[in-house]
Amino acid sequence: MTQVPVLPLADAESAMRFHRMLTLHVARLKHRAEPVGLHQFLLGQVLGLHHPEREGAAQCADCGQRYPCGTTLLTALLARLPVRWTRRRWGER
Ligand SMILES: [Zn+2]
Repeated sequence: MTQVPVLPLADAESAMRFHRMLTLHVARLKHRAEPVGLHQFLLGQVLGLHHPEREGAAQCADCGQRYPCGTTLLTALLARLPVRWTRRRWGER
């Protein structure tokens, strides 16, 4: 079983894995045969723009911030990505 990488992400590979898991989570918010809701559609559009750069450091391709950028984190929050994040894990005190 693959685990969601813990923030802050160590490298570009972890950033890409985090992005894939968040995208998969958003895609699975609806059940089969249900139409895509506006909320899910908008979250998917945001993730289509704010993804890690393909090469180099783990930076957002759209806004250039370190990945995950603020927009991506807000998307994970709004999509209720089931990851326990605490301030301590973020490296803050
Ligand atoms: Zn971004």
